[in-house]
Formats: sequence, C-alpha cells, structure tokens
Amino acid sequence: MKNKIALFPGSFDPFTIGHESIVMRALSLFDKIIIAIGYNTNKTGFFPLEDRLTWIRDVFSNEKKVEVDTYEGLTVDFCVEKGVGYILRGLRTSSDFEYERAIAQMNRTMHPEIESVFILTLPEYTHVASAIVRDIILHGGDASMFLPKKMKIRK
Ligand code: ADP
Repeated sequence: MKNKIALFPGSFDPFTIGHESIVMRALSLFDKIIIAIGYNTNKTGFFPLEDRLTWIRDVFSNEKKVEVDTYEGLTVDFCVEKGVGYILRGLRTSSDFEYERAIAQMNRTMHPEIESVFILTLPEYTHVASAIVRDIILHGGDASMFLPKKMKIRK
C-alpha cells in the first residue's frame, strides 16, 4: 500500500498562520507531512533560507508527524527522492485555483503516481499572504497576528 506521506512545498517567505492551519488540518489525512522550502540559488528570498527553516521547525517542534526540509529544482523530483505520493497545497481564491490547477495538471502529466491534494483555507485566513506580511515587516509594522505563535521573526 502507498505510504501516506505528503509534501507541502512552498517558498514560505515567511511561513504564516494560513500555512500553519493547512498543515494542522492535513495531519489527520497523512502519516507524515514534509514541509519543503523550495529555493533557487539564482533568486534569493526576502528572508534567509536558514531562518525560514528554523522558524518552521520551531512551529512544529512538538509535532512528530511533521518534518521540515529544503529543496532546489522540480517539486516532483523531490517527491520521488523522498518517496512521497502526495503534494499538499492550500487554496484561498479563484486565482490560487487557476495557478494550482495548471501546476497540478503538469505535475500529473510528468508523474501520474503523485496525487495533488488541496485544502481550502479557513475563511478567516483568506487574506493572509506572505507577500503582504513581508511588506508590513519591511515597513516596520507589526505582523505578529499573521504569524504562528511559536514563530519569532526578527528583521
Ligand atoms: P508558493 O511560492 O509555492 O506559492 P507559498 O509559500 O506562497 O508558496 O504558499 C505555499 C502554499 O500555501 C500554496 O499552496 C498557497 O496557496 C498556500 N497558502 C498560502 N497562504 C495561504 C493561506 N492564507 N491559506 C491557505 N493556504 C495558503
């Protein structure tokens, strides 16, 4: 039988309460969830990769079913490397849906054995976006209400 291991890929720049909620809700569906920060050596993120990794590890330090990792390259290649059968993604809006649909269908064409699974965001997190959190922090605002409680960001 197929392992119920899911990869939750993203840039998580930074990880937000929206991401946290998707992982927590998906825990009952899977035996293990690997949160995987995708990176590109030619295009660095806003927050250093090492910080993003540490912050997410802190959030799930008491959750044995969650692992945090980084990868470069195609998400499906990393799934194959890790023996993962499911890609987990969150959906907020119809534009998220269109974007995710294209990626999921292309991934499926390349690797039909990997199933993409989507969880619809809670209504209270529909507006939560890493890009806006970055902007708040960049301009010296307090973004703590959009970040998981166990996450201590300093910029
Ligand atoms: P990417 O750069 O791959 O879009 P993100 O870190 O922005 O990565 O997001 C990772 C996943 O989390 C995506 O599926 C995205 O739609 C989802 N996501 C982001 N914010 C939220 C939220 N507030 N509620 C639910 N899902 C979310």
